Amino acid sequence: MQSNSANPAAHPASALDRQSLRPDCGNCFALCCTAFGFSRSADFALDKPAGSPCRNLAPDFSCTIHATLRPRGFRGCTVFDCFGAGQKVSQGLFGGTNWREAPDSKGPMFAAFKAVRQLHEMLWYLAEARRRTFDPDLGRRAEELGAIIGQAIDGGPQQLLRQDVQDLHAQVRATLMDVSAEVRASYFAAGGDHLDARLGPGADLMGIRLSGRRLCGADLRGAYLIGADLRDSDLSGVDLLGADLRDARLAGADLSKALYLTQPQLNSAAGNGLTRLPADLVIPSHWHQG
Ligand code: SF4
Repeated sequence: MQSNSANPAAHPASALDRQSLRPDCGNCFALCCTAFGFSRSADFALDKPAGSPCRNLAPDFSCTIHATLRPRGFRGCTVFDCFGAGQKVSQGLFGGTNWREAPDSKGPMFAAFKAVRQLHEMLWYLAEARRRTFDPDLGRRAEELGAIIGQAIDGGPQQLLRQDVQDLHAQVRATLMDVSAEVRASYFAAGGDHLDARLGPGADLMGIRLSGRRLCGADLRGAYLIGADLRDSDLSGVDLLGADLRDARLAGADLSKALYLTQPQLNSAAGNGLTRLPADLVIPSHWHQG
């Protein structure tokens, strides 16, 4: 849980401004702690139905066990990231009136939160696609898609919930893949270990040992890297879109130029102070504790 100084109701000059896509829990009505339902598991220590507040939620929307989430069995709470949807919905779409004051707003507010989180995640990726592409047309396509998504959100809860998210998702995905192919190709001439036959989109790489390897330009989109040993490896230009990095060992790895890496992926992995990250991402606090 983090806080930033942006005005959550303000419209950024571009929907692809990542500053507005960071969580600002102090301006959110704990939507992640209420809207979603959870089953008791290794990530969440109790059953909680969707639409009801977690029993650890305080009246002021803070978490009463924030400092001890992991040891108390709430690891999933330390992994989740709303991409700024919480403050956007709480302060922007619902004008700062919370669901305790206006219980009738619960349903539409929680539905809007789920939709905006999906859309903000798309904006996060599009911002990177626009920044990484060498092709002005692809950059324009990313910017235009960002504008469409931004308008869909700013149109208000009713317009938002009518939006065909799947269609937008398909368009965004195509753009991300085009940029990925372009960026990864720029690493191929320099050689590297990316041609390892085991590495590919959606590959089952659970527990694989890839420490110290130069994986530049590999396409690991959607790959299962749970528990993989990536220590001291170079992941420059590696497409990690949707890759499962739970418990992946990232100590000393260079992820500073990895493609489509997100904060929740990092939060679920295990790195250290020597792990190199893209400028927009931060070292999870539990890495230091580990
Ligand atoms: S444990 Fe804390 S952070 Fe997790 S859902 Fe409950 S109130 Fe929210």
